[in-house]
Amino acid sequence: MPRGGGTSLDGESVPPDGGVVVDLSAWSRVLEVDGDDLWARVEPGVVNRDLQRALLPHGLFFPPNPGSWTTSTIGGNVGTNASGMRSFRYGPTRAWVREVDAVLGTGDRVHLGRRVAKRSVGPDLLQLFVGSEGTLGIATELTVRLAPVPTTRRGVVVPLPSRPSLGSIVSSLARLPDSGLSAVEYLDAGCAAALSEARTARWRSGSALLLLEVEAGGASEASRRLTRLRSRLAKAGVPGMPAVFEDADELWTLRGESGNVLLERYGYHVREDVAVPVARIDDLLRALARIARRERVPYFLFGHLGEGSLHPNYVVDPTSAVAQRIRASVLSASRSLGGTISAEHGVGILKRPFLAEELGTSAIGLLTAVKTACDPDGILNPGKLYPPSSERGRPPSWSPSAGGVARARRRLPIARPTRVVSGGTRSTSARPRRRAARP
Ligand SMILES: Cc1cc2nc3c(=O)[nH]c(=O)nc-3n(C[C@H](O)[C@H](O)[C@H](O)COP(=O)(O)OP(=O)(O)OC[C@H]3O[C@@H](n4cnc5c(N)ncnc54)[C@H](O)[C@@H]3O)c2cc1C
Repeated sequence: MPRGGGTSLDGESVPPDGGVVVDLSAWSRVLEVDGDDLWARVEPGVVNRDLQRALLPHGLFFPPNPGSWTTSTIGGNVGTNASGMRSFRYGPTRAWVREVDAVLGTGDRVHLGRRVAKRSVGPDLLQLFVGSEGTLGIATELTVRLAPVPTTRRGVVVPLPSRPSLGSIVSSLARLPDSGLSAVEYLDAGCAAALSEARTARWRSGSALLLLEVEAGGASEASRRLTRLRSRLAKAGVPGMPAVFEDADELWTLRGESGNVLLERYGYHVREDVAVPVARIDDLLRALARIARRERVPYFLFGHLGEGSLHPNYVVDPTSAVAQRIRASVLSASRSLGGTISAEHGVGILKRPFLAEELGTSAIGLLTAVKTACDPDGILNPGKLYPPSSERGRPPSWSPSAGGVARARRRLPIARPTRVVSGGTRSTSARPRRRAARP
């Protein structure tokens, strides 16, 4: 099982039944940056923040920046198709991967994608790999697309009135022309109160908040855009005076703490990750509130509202029967509103029983065929993503077996990364090794 930073939230990087963990965190070099063609070639274990730091002198950045950007890796971001605060404008990791070199479960090496802006050469195997959670292959090198750093980035904190229609506010912001908006985030009153205690917060507890980012080509364009944004918000029924952070990253560092602050306050709890079409956001909010009332459990919400993506947090022991009921109800509510069971965190262990309901039997059959072709012995991240065989009435052909693992041991060409003195890392060998992996 490949593992990057180990920050994934649904058990993607945990071996539930033991096995071999291929820790790629030491494979962490930025190999090449092309400032003309806007790409960087990296090893899979490079931490998202380290890549961003390496790109800054080039005036470039890698737009997907999940809340875990200080610890999660590019290999892991690709493995889960992670999104960040600014995916309202830039989209998820999927949109920012150009090439992947990977080793499949068969031991074959594949090179997926090309370094071009567009391409029409049959079905896109690269995109099949993105979000595959380490179940099809292990990425050993990646080329990611880059964007120029905007000259000016303002963070904007907007207090919301007590009963806003969030769906209509978001639609109204999405239709604002030339807005420079790159992030539309939401904190409910409970999360905003918890974060308001941080030294850098510029709001008092009390109301729910929108957190926005406005990009611009300089201070005067930023100020024009902020004025238009204020008047658009007022028309949408949000008259409160926004607070502005000169440096948007200050705001995102604070926002990135939401999950941890809730964890510190309330301990382990149910934290979900769903997304619905923007037009159904208000319906989702009502459904989430109903679930909390029915189960008599406190709950908090934050998320990437601009994309209809929310993280409801229910304060209940995540291993309890109530938690199981809540999780099933939240996922079902999202699906019934035309949404998804996972906006950005992935499927892992926790959501595999729900996968078939979202994809349908035929699509699961196709996925099964792909999995079997890439990993016939079932050695790559067993127990993840694919629904348990018991739920489909037949054992999957990729079930890991002693024989499968032994065969794979002989085949896998991947070598353990070893540290080199310069601080980077280098693979010792790309040749097939008899004992590359140990159970
Ligand atoms: C505080 C916090 C905030 C978070 N915020 C966000 C957020 O805003 N948005 C978001 O999308 N997620 C978020 N997450 C979830 C998590 O950080 C992301 O899923 C992240 O992409 C995982 O990266 P990682 O390096 O930790 O990968 P890991 O957890 O190590 O692995 C994730 C998956 O990718 C696979 N994988 C890892 N490396 C490779 C490789 N080289 N080749 C093939 N497969 C591989 C693994 O097998 C596993 O299935 C957050 C998590 C935390 C703890």
